[in-house]
Amino acid sequence: MNRRKFLKATGLTALSLALPGCFSKNRKYADNDKRPNILFIMSDDHAAKGISAYDSFLSDVAKTPNIDRIAKEGMLFENCFCTNSICVPSRATILTGKYGHKNGCSGLSDEFDGSQQTFPKLLQKVGYYTSVIGKWHLSTEPTGFDYYNVLPGQGTYFNPTFKEKGYPWGTGDGRLIKKGYVTDIITDIALDCLKNRPNEKPFCMLLHHKAAHDLWEYDEKHAHLYEDIDLPEPPNLFDDYKMRTALADNPVFKLTEGLNNELAEVHKTGKNDRRTVYQLFVKSFLRCVASLDENVARVLDYIDKEGLAANTIVIYTSDQGAFLGEHGLWDKRYMYEESIRMPFLVRYPREVKPASVNDNIILNLDLAETFLDFAGVTIPNDMQGESIRPLLRGSSPENWRTSMYYHYTDGGIPNHYGIRTDRYKLIFFYGLEWDLGTGEVRKVSKPEWELFDLKKDPNEMNNLYNDTAYANIVKDLKTQLRQLKEKLEDSDENYPGLKEITQKYW
Ligand code: CA
Repeated sequence: MNRRKFLKATGLTALSLALPGCFSKNRKYADNDKRPNILFIMSDDHAAKGISAYDSFLSDVAKTPNIDRIAKEGMLFENCFCTNSICVPSRATILTGKYGHKNGCSGLSDEFDGSQQTFPKLLQKVGYYTSVIGKWHLSTEPTGFDYYNVLPGQGTYFNPTFKEKGYPWGTGDGRLIKKGYVTDIITDIALDCLKNRPNEKPFCMLLHHKAAHDLWEYDEKHAHLYEDIDLPEPPNLFDDYKMRTALADNPVFKLTEGLNNELAEVHKTGKNDRRTVYQLFVKSFLRCVASLDENVARVLDYIDKEGLAANTIVIYTSDQGAFLGEHGLWDKRYMYEESIRMPFLVRYPREVKPASVNDNIILNLDLAETFLDFAGVTIPNDMQGESIRPLLRGSSPENWRTSMYYHYTDGGIPNHYGIRTDRYKLIFFYGLEWDLGTGEVRKVSKPEWELFDLKKDPNEMNNLYNDTAYANIVKDLKTQLRQLKEKLEDSDENYPGLKEITQKYW
């Protein structure tokens, strides 16, 4: 994009550039402004185990050297979780610092109310140049951004269309078709935006990729990767679903019941066993990841070459995790580790020690407050997270959260809520679904609790809920869960029929 068109799209005119007191092209903001730039890279469904900086069954064969560089030069978070493992709700939570029941986005089809408070709006107000490039996924027009250029809905992997600021948002599929592979194109647009930004201001860029979401259409140049090898398998690929009704009874996201029909490469084999489907789909996923990794390098190189590294917070994360065959699953949604764990890597040389690791529980809920903290903005009382800045500086505050609350309500699998502490996870699959159109409440599965001891059973294969040795732990976790629900104001009263079920089975 040329500079003139860019300025038009961003509302900056030749007049404003010429006026004294407005932006002066010769003065860099960093001379008298210590607020950092923020480069917030987020991919889609990029499971932490698909990044070699995280130790996993894949890390020896699937290397991501460029994403790993952020960990080497910054901090890796081992326990970053999302509060609802699905795309739209996680993105809405990141923007607002609030759970879905507060920001209006608990499900995939919920429309984001763009008039509400978000961190980009608050940053824009104090002089940040704000932009969002790539995957947006919230159906309403982005607000609080000086510039946006986003994919409509899920977007496409090849020759994607975009919706750009300065043109009518409309409801269609976007007007600008760009030839090529989506991860390259999103990076091209982001680099253009960085080059053309008003450099008198600190910037906050949301660089959000479509990859590595299903159905994992990879660039032709990565087709040869992993061609001649069998990938190592996750240790819980062959979960037999004993003592876990929610998984036993629900075929939707199992490798052998769903994906074999959707992924042409699997269909072609005529085979329908977990091992075959796993190999084919994870190879496709990792080829999409290879492109992400190469494009992260392009952006890091630009930041470094322009002398922006010291004063720019670079984050790499994903809107949630994803199953890579664990429990015989793909997709996410469930409160199991692979689904709720987000990769989270941060480089910021001014405050973050290279090659540092943090194991505190942090959440997608914390991002808004963290960004505001770095920008010196007073954090609004109604945000529900915590700034992770103290953790980034290397301290581990004594009063840091020791548990997190999760609630999935979008159906497809049994809805559930639960608590995860440093050691345990307690999940209540309450089995209700709501049709908001008709007001209908449907019971779709038998209500059931699951308890896992993550220290003894990190792969969550052994449901201990009915083990009498854990009775006191269950009791204590239920008390904590109730307290969290109250504190976060996610009352069962808000969900028709849930209060009665909870009371009966608590
Ligand atoms: Ca996602």
